[in-house]
Amino acid sequence: MATTREQTQANREAKLDELHERLTGEVENLVSGEDWSRALAFAARFRARSFSNTLLIWGQHQGAYEAGLVPDPMPSYVAGYRQWQGLGRQVQKGQPGYQILAPVTGRFASANPADAASWRRLNKGEKPRAGEVVRSKMVGVRPAYVWDASQTAGDPIPEPPAPKLLEGEAPAGLWDGLVAQVEAAGFAVVRVPHEGMIHGANGMTDYTANTVAVRENMDPAAQVKTLAHELGHVLLQGPDQDEARQHRGIGEVEAESVALMVGAAHGMDTTGYTIPYVSTWAARVDGKEPVEVVKATGERVRKTALTILDQLDTTQVADGTQPGLDRESTRRDQPAQERSAPDRAAGRHVEPLPEHSARPVSVAAAQERGL
Ligand SMILES: [Zn+2]
Repeated sequence: MATTREQTQANREAKLDELHERLTGEVENLVSGEDWSRALAFAARFRARSFSNTLLIWGQHQGAYEAGLVPDPMPSYVAGYRQWQGLGRQVQKGQPGYQILAPVTGRFASANPADAASWRRLNKGEKPRAGEVVRSKMVGVRPAYVWDASQTAGDPIPEPPAPKLLEGEAPAGLWDGLVAQVEAAGFAVVRVPHEGMIHGANGMTDYTANTVAVRENMDPAAQVKTLAHELGHVLLQGPDQDEARQHRGIGEVEAESVALMVGAAHGMDTTGYTIPYVSTWAARVDGKEPVEVVKATGERVRKTALTILDQLDTTQVADGTQPGLDRESTRRDQPAQERSAPDRAAGRHVEPLPEHSARPVSVAAAQERGL
């Protein structure tokens, strides 16, 4: 016969499983929605930049941020003057372009392609002679200028729903309880005044210094959610996590799913943050559909959440209500336009900074290197 404790445990596991199933369903909803596909189609129009150009953009954007010219320390979409015009947006007056190096190509013609010496460069507009083969080749670089989306105005930029920071108070005792577990794992919790100190993120786990940093300039509810996320990293992942993009995506899905479960057990609705965050990272795992990625992490996430919840002496939600993931309270029916209209009208990104800069942008590579 099962003891009360075993029953409680079984109940809890069943609730967490159900919670994970709902999370998976919400991720599916989000990534199959129109906002998501529009944003992907838009992103596909921006070409990948070379690593050196990414660094050039990064450095100059930081300078523009420090000079107060752009609202966000991280560049988002970056394009040339005419490309922005083609997308229905105009570079705003007084915004300096970022200089990058664009390839210069030349056209070469030859009647005998196998003979390297026979190739001659064609002048602009010059036509090849009869029987000649034409090929283009990079012959050098020239300076070119690009602008970040935040330096332009015009047609709205289609974006997938962005994580929304939690507001309000933290559940009593949860912060201290999580700190104790982070410390028991050999990490020190450090509170930093702002995101600028941790690469623009809300929190950061440093496996070299053995620290977990959380920024203080957000509501206590958001801070405690971030701490739960970082504790998820501490318990589930190790220092090699960042090396592979593949693993990074899975690691973020796991850590944030743990945070959702810890939050839900305390009556916190983290879905406005968790669903877009998990979807974005799950979509970055190559070769798998986002929903598959989330599903595959279910077991590890549940185990970790249980371990954390078992060690807390906080008051936890007993009736199995999972705020935010019940059918009535999800807001997926509400048009995204309505939700984000004020932000768009202000002409700037007011989206909260993700835990680890999880924006699907062209400079993502640089962000992942923690630059
Ligand atoms: Zn993370």
